[in-house]
Amino acid sequence: MIIILKNDSQKEDVDRLVRFIEAQELKINEVDGTDRRLLCIIGHTYNLDIDILKSFKCVADVKRIDEPYNLVSRENHRDDTVITLTEAAVKTQIGTGLTFIAGPCSIESEEQINSIARKVAEYGAGILRGGAYKPRSSPYSFQGLKNEGLRMLADAGKSVGLPTISELTEISQLEYFDDIDIIQIGARNMQNYELLKEIGAVKKPVLLKRGLSATISELLMSAEYIISSGNPNVILCERGIRTFETATRNTLDLSAIPLLKLKTHLPVVVDPSHATGIEELVSPMALAAAAAGAHGIMLEVNDNPEQALCDGQQCISTEAFKTIVEKSKAIVELIGGSKH
Ligand code: PEP
Ligand code: MN
Repeated sequence: MIIILKNDSQKEDVDRLVRFIEAQELKINEVDGTDRRLLCIIGHTYNLDIDILKSFKCVADVKRIDEPYNLVSRENHRDDTVITLTEAAVKTQIGTGLTFIAGPCSIESEEQINSIARKVAEYGAGILRGGAYKPRSSPYSFQGLKNEGLRMLADAGKSVGLPTISELTEISQLEYFDDIDIIQIGARNMQNYELLKEIGAVKKPVLLKRGLSATISELLMSAEYIISSGNPNVILCERGIRTFETATRNTLDLSAIPLLKLKTHLPVVVDPSHATGIEELVSPMALAAAAAGAHGIMLEVNDNPEQALCDGQQCISTEAFKTIVEKSKAIVELIGGSKH
C-alpha cells in the first residue's frame, strides 16, 4: 500500500500517521520523490482501512497494491479448494470436475420434489436443490413451504442418495437446516454482513450468490466475511447481474468464471436459470459456463414448468437437464477439465 503525503504536511501530523501504522505491526519505507513524499507500507495491509488513513491531515491519497481480502485470495492459497459433501462410495465434491446442482425453484409438495429428485439423480445431478424460504419480490407471491419444505427436500435427497442445498434468509431458520448439506445465501443477502458472520460460525458448506449489483471484489469480500468468521467451506455463484439490458432477467457475466478462478481458490458455480430468466437460454448458457471452466452449474428443473409456483418461465424439463449434462461432459473433456 502506498500513502501519498500532502506537500505541505507538518512533521507532527506525519509522525502521528507513522505511529498509527506501526502500531499495527506494519513496516514503513519513506520515499522522497522530486514532487511527492510517499510512505510505502510493507506487510499484511488488507486490514488497514483506507478511509481511516485518508482522514489523517497529512494524507493526499492512498493506493492499494494488494487486494483488500486475504483468506479468499489465490495469492495465499495456490491450490483449488475442494469441498467434499458426501463420503459415500461415490463422493460428491465441488471444486474439482463439474458438479450439477438441480431441482425446482421451490419445493411444492412431497410428490413434486421426489419425482424431480429421482430424475435428476438418474441424469447426473450431484446435488439436489429446492427453495423453502423464498425471497420473493411481492409479499403476495408464494413464499415457500419453509421448515416443512426443508424436511421434504432432505427426505427426497436421502432417498436418491444426493446431498441437498436450500436458501437460508434469516439465521433463526438454521435449526431447520440440520439435514440440509449446503446453505445457500441468496443474491439479496450477499451484503447482509451480520448474516454472513453468523453463517461463518457454522461449519456447513455455504453457497454464496453474487448480489444483483455486486462487483467481483464485493463478492469476494462477502466470502472473506464468512471465512474470517470461521467457515472455510464457501462456494461462489455467478447468477447474473443487473445491467441496462431488460431482454433477459439479468446479464450473465461469464467472464466472472475465469476471473474468479484467477483471484480465488474457492469453487465457482454458475446459475444460468436466474441469470437469463428464459428457458430457451438456459441450455446455451449452461454449456458456455462449462466451456468457461465452472466447477458447478445450478439449474432449475421441473417436471411441469407451467404449473410451477415460482420461476416457471426459466425452468427446464428433466429431459433438457439430461441433455445439458451429456453435452457439458463432452465440453469438459474437450477443454481438458475445469482446471484451466
Ligand atoms: C434461488 O436460487 O432460488 C434464488 C432465489 O436465487 P438468487 O438469490 O440468485 O435470486
Ligand atoms: Mn428461482
